[in-house]
Amino acid sequence: IYVSLYGTDKEKKSSIIALQNSQGWVRRELGKHLRMRNTPEVRFYEDDTLDKVYELEGLIEKIHEDHEEMPFNHVGFDLILEDLKNAESFLVTAHVSPDGDAVGSILGMCHLLKKLGKTKITPMLADPVPKVFHSLPGADTIVNAEEAPTDYDLAIILDVAQLERTGKVADYIPASKKVLVIDHHLVDAPDGTLGVIDASFAATGEMVYELFKTAGIELDEEAAHCICVAQITDTGGFRYSNTNARSHHIAAAIIETGLDVSPICHQVFDTMTLPKFKLLQTYLSRLSFCANGKAAWSWLTAKDLEEAGGQREDLDGLVNYGRNIEGVTVGVLFSTLEETVSKVSLRSEEEFNSAQFLSQFGGGGHAAAAGATLTEPLDAVKDKVLKALEAALEA
Ligand code: 5GP
Ligand code: MN
Repeated sequence: IYVSLYGTDKEKKSSIIALQNSQGWVRRELGKHLRMRNTPEVRFYEDDTLDKVYELEGLIEKIHEDHEEMPFNHVGFDLILEDLKNAESFLVTAHVSPDGDAVGSILGMCHLLKKLGKTKITPMLADPVPKVFHSLPGADTIVNAEEAPTDYDLAIILDVAQLERTGKVADYIPASKKVLVIDHHLVDAPDGTLGVIDASFAATGEMVYELFKTAGIELDEEAAHCICVAQITDTGGFRYSNTNARSHHIAAAIIETGLDVSPICHQVFDTMTLPKFKLLQTYLSRLSFCANGKAAWSWLTAKDLEEAGGQREDLDGLVNYGRNIEGVTVGVLFSTLEETVSKVSLRSEEEFNSAQFLSQFGGGGHAAAAGATLTEPLDAVKDKVLKALEAALEA
């Protein structure tokens, strides 16, 4: 008979002795139930399975603790490439409310992985791919986070360095997983195991391009299409201050693949859905100024979205209309995600750092474009953000 024993070694030993001493009684009781001529002799052994279970649990716990304490390892593209080559299966994701850079980077990365001979790739996003990006090659392969991905070796998070900002996808990235980060946001404390975080890149898509280059893999039209969309959305068609010479070199490489860039630009910049047009009307009708005209702000609710028949993606870019007005340094759009969850979007001129300003509200992003999500009603968020903004612009 194997018995699980609790207590100290001494206590366990005396428990075994006590059981052995009652051997006769146990044997007699057994005899009453067994249909055998001779009742077998009874011996007691300690079953240490539980101890082993506890030991294993302790080990797993320790691995998690070590993992959490492990600092993020900033590496170069060559090491990233090695990690991509060494893994077999991948979860590839980006931030919630995906923009062109998020979608383009995911799909560019998937193309690269396929070129590296990988077949087990799950591209996943917490929110749907905006309609304007449906024509990207592979856009229909991006799965929604409602369903868990098949198991994978390596998680790749793109255009974001905070797991929390991948939304529901983060549920499928436990602390035990290796997480590779490729991002160009201003971040202090990235999540994940290792990666490249470099704010000198105008788009994460440009970093994916660097990986093609590092791997010596020639860009094809499909990958070029994905990287092009990432680049043109994050640089506003090469107009924003993040655009640099490297951006244009990459753009040249994209055009050299034979990709027809003009219709892509037309779709991204010159096409507006009817709901977006209606939302723009409401946005403009509510536009107000504060801080002596240095800030222009407006607001839209989930109800406005519903009435216009629009999606969240239809709010993209509206904030620029305020920022673009003469004399305005900062454009602000307040919107509701749910009744008690509000979003702030900021776009600013060079003299104002939007990401830094929004960090006091738990937000982040870039100097010229940043956002924050607060679990508070819209009015309360409006009040405190505008107050802080006035103080910051007067300083
Ligand atoms: P948008 O205003 O277009 O949603 O976002 C502008 C920039 O700010 C993007 O680079 C985006 O990644 C970042 N951003 C937007 N919302 C949030 C947020 O809630 N938290 C943080 N940390 N960054 C955000
Ligand atoms: Mn980006």
